[in-house]
Amino acid sequence: MSLEILDREPPAPGSALEIAPGVLWVRMPLPLALDHVNLWILRDEERKRYALLDTGMDTGPTRDAWSTLIAGPLAGEQAVAVIVSHLHPDHIGLAHWLCDRLEVPLRMTLAEYLGACLIQGRSPPADAATLGRFYAKHGASERELASFEGRARFYVRAVPHLPTSLRRIEAGGLLQLGPVWQVGTGAGHSPEHAFFHCPETSVLISGDLLLPSISSNISVFTLEPEGDPLGDFLAALARFRNLSDETLILPSHGRPFRGARARVGELLSHHEERLARLLTALSGSFATASDMVPVLFERNLSDHELVFAFGEALAHLHRLWQAGFLERREDPARIAFGCRRMGPDEIRRSAHLAVGTAAGVVTDQA
Ligand SMILES: [Zn+2]
Repeated sequence: MSLEILDREPPAPGSALEIAPGVLWVRMPLPLALDHVNLWILRDEERKRYALLDTGMDTGPTRDAWSTLIAGPLAGEQAVAVIVSHLHPDHIGLAHWLCDRLEVPLRMTLAEYLGACLIQGRSPPADAATLGRFYAKHGASERELASFEGRARFYVRAVPHLPTSLRRIEAGGLLQLGPVWQVGTGAGHSPEHAFFHCPETSVLISGDLLLPSISSNISVFTLEPEGDPLGDFLAALARFRNLSDETLILPSHGRPFRGARARVGELLSHHEERLARLLTALSGSFATASDMVPVLFERNLSDHELVFAFGEALAHLHRLWQAGFLERREDPARIAFGCRRMGPDEIRRSAHLAVGTAAGVVTDQA
């Protein structure tokens, strides 16, 4: 089966649309190039209880839209939790305000919560000195350095406060709100990103782990400067291949869709193509991550996009490095990646293996 994107108009801000049994779809605006985020309300109609799943950024329009929803379609029902899939501002930004206002606990995975605390508090790894050293060593230009320094400030603006405690959710756990939801987690996009699967109704709330039309950002950040988030992400993605074709996927960006297996296949090919591009550029030479940004991203990037592009270039370099297809040379001032000269067939095969071994879908294909 190929990818089938649902032909439903997204709900306007402040309104909610029933998209699956016990799931309402809410969409909030974002002041970014990616201009919206999808949020979900899990609803137990019999017992008149609900939980919010993700919150949007802390902005005036998002607060207003939530107020309209709470006073409108949700009036007379009891809120029981604010569930957050992962630490990015469009998902957690308003958790503090909603938890206070609804008097409910925050529910999220521990690594995501602790990660949010570190960035929000501008503690290592989000302090300016750590960020500056990390990016400079990867060859960052003046413009790149200036834009990256603003990152911690951006997070604090979009997530001005965090709830001070949480009720942890973790892989293998169950949530009962209407139907029973199984919690799973995947790394790569963020440390312990939660997703929610309801086998009874064949629905998967995928967060940013499986998106229909854009690929999730996968970046190396300062917390794990030698990490392989792309390897982690490919392993997480591969698990969605086992979902039935009927499973309705509710993603954080874009429209709901069916055809998980087809979409996973497209994404694996996408990353394979990116890896091949890097190997082609580096064949017989060495260069920094900064040098590789224009190889992967040919268009002009805004300051906001630059940090993701840089992180993404590093993540692809690290996958090739961890898979043994690139060498990493570090001296006190610079880190560079490179390899001996390779022909097009060898490049294609290497990229294929670097994706396949991480995803666990290929062990050997000559
Ligand atoms: Zn995200």
